Amino acid sequence: MRQAVCQPLCRYHKPGRREEPGCGGLAWLEKRPHLAGEIHRLAPQGSNPLFGLKPDDPRLHKVCAGCEYQADGCDFRDPAVDPADCAPCGGLRAVAGLLAAGRDLGL
Ligand code: SF4
Repeated sequence: MRQAVCQPLCRYHKPGRREEPGCGGLAWLEKRPHLAGEIHRLAPQGSNPLFGLKPDDPRLHKVCAGCEYQADGCDFRDPAVDPADCAPCGGLRAVAGLLAAGRDLGL
């Protein structure tokens, strides 16, 4: 799953460095390995990081709610930071891409 998500979709990815525990989006996806092939086929959209979904989409908030970085370590979910001034992690982007493609993820 990391191969599908981190390098292609995450601007915070550093080659050769494995972040632990990883973002909440990645953790959520690692429990659903059957989605990796679909994520590989997502076309990265630099100017449209959430594939057309809004940052306050409740399905995305559900994924972030389980992320260790949300409370202290994620600008994207820091209410003091305008989401337009920062970027979501690759895990959240992958979830957004699947949702935007019409995938029912049960969120
Ligand atoms: S956007 Fe932030 S809070 Fe949400 S999953 Fe990614 S790192 Fe965690």
